[in-house]
Amino acid sequence: MKKNTLTMKNFIRAIACLVFVLAGMNTFAQEEIEFVRKSKILTTPTCTLYAADFHVHNSVFQNPELRNKMLANNACSTFIVNYSGFTPEAEAAFQYAVDIWANSIESSQPITISASFQPLAPGVLGQAGPVSVHTSNAPDAVPNVFYPKALAEKLEDAQINPDPFGGSVDITVTLSSNFNFYFGTDAMPPGGQFDFVSIVLHEVAHGLGFGTSFRNTNGITGSIREPNNNIPTVYDLFIENGAGQSLLDTNFFADPSTALHVQLTGGDLFNNSPLSINQNGGVIPEVYAPPTFQGGSSYAHWDSSTIPVGNINSLMRPSVGSGIAIHDPGPITLGVFEDMGWSICGGSLSIEELNAESVEIGPNPFMFAISIKLKVGGNDDYTIDLFDVDGRLVLNDTVTADDGLIIISSDLYSLESAMYFIRITNKFSGNSVTKKIIKG
Ligand SMILES: [Zn+2]
Repeated sequence: MKKNTLTMKNFIRAIACLVFVLAGMNTFAQEEIEFVRKSKILTTPTCTLYAADFHVHNSVFQNPELRNKMLANNACSTFIVNYSGFTPEAEAAFQYAVDIWANSIESSQPITISASFQPLAPGVLGQAGPVSVHTSNAPDAVPNVFYPKALAEKLEDAQINPDPFGGSVDITVTLSSNFNFYFGTDAMPPGGQFDFVSIVLHEVAHGLGFGTSFRNTNGITGSIREPNNNIPTVYDLFIENGAGQSLLDTNFFADPSTALHVQLTGGDLFNNSPLSINQNGGVIPEVYAPPTFQGGSSYAHWDSSTIPVGNINSLMRPSVGSGIAIHDPGPITLGVFEDMGWSICGGSLSIEELNAESVEIGPNPFMFAISIKLKVGGNDDYTIDLFDVDGRLVLNDTVTADDGLIIISSDLYSLESAMYFIRITNKFSGNSVTKKIIKG
């Protein structure tokens, strides 16, 4: 009888365990089912790019690393472009711009662009944006935030299938056929001609997620979220004002509200993407927010007064003049992209800053001075600590890099001949790297 009781207990335990396991499975299944993707087809382009009325000669060429990647023909993503209305030379220039992006961002998923070359409104060089935006349950996706289709597919490592709106196109780009374009790929447009490659490069950035088409104001109340679902776009997560208040913080800014209108037109917006700030020498980059709201420009571009023509980051200015070429996405725009969830072709911007490969120290052995060359470049402030083999701090210095170059010369000659450890810390990001070095 006793034995039977034990058996019965065990049986009950087994049943209880089974129920528990099944309940667990059920909960898991429910969690799986609970993610219902929200999607929105976009009817307004993120960008309407206007021709600036100034004419200068200025070329921003690709940085050498990007140039070498392009020459090596070893792209990190695949773009498929469906062309409509293009001449062969316009198509070749478009493809060249797409190749720059293919060597700048990484995705396992093909990125499909529907490209049209047709008349647009007077003064408009081009328009573009994602075809649609989607929430995602990818591990790295922020819940309940709209991602541009190409980025959602990158994060999910899969195509959005079925696409609620049909088709496989991720990005729509329209270029105006009304302009005197330069179709060369050498970033040397003659005076009076608009550089086609630069404009395509700019527009594809919007299609990949730079900006949002939902920001709007009627002159009294402004909004940034998609109105039907009340959901922000991933780009919105980083936008704040000069007081450091996130535009998504409803304690300050209801959506829609007069307060948001004031922010959208106040000339005081910034992108708080940590990698972008890092790539900007520790300075938070400013977002275009002129006093008169411009539907295709405001909020979705860099501020034109702080990022002048010729700046390495000038691709995403709100307008472009003739004679100007920008053939590099620019580090602060790539910083925004990486913080939004894109991977950067050639490696993360964050770990590339300081690691064993990105720092060269010499001479080794040293006598009077140590030269530190940071591959990341820039003019950030760094703390330099020198430790002996017993871990004692023998030198501490704070220096500002000069285009990535740091020279340490104080008090080195008096050090004993021995092995030391030198630690280099970026004062802004806190990233550091330690290397061995010998005093001769
Ligand atoms: Zn634009």
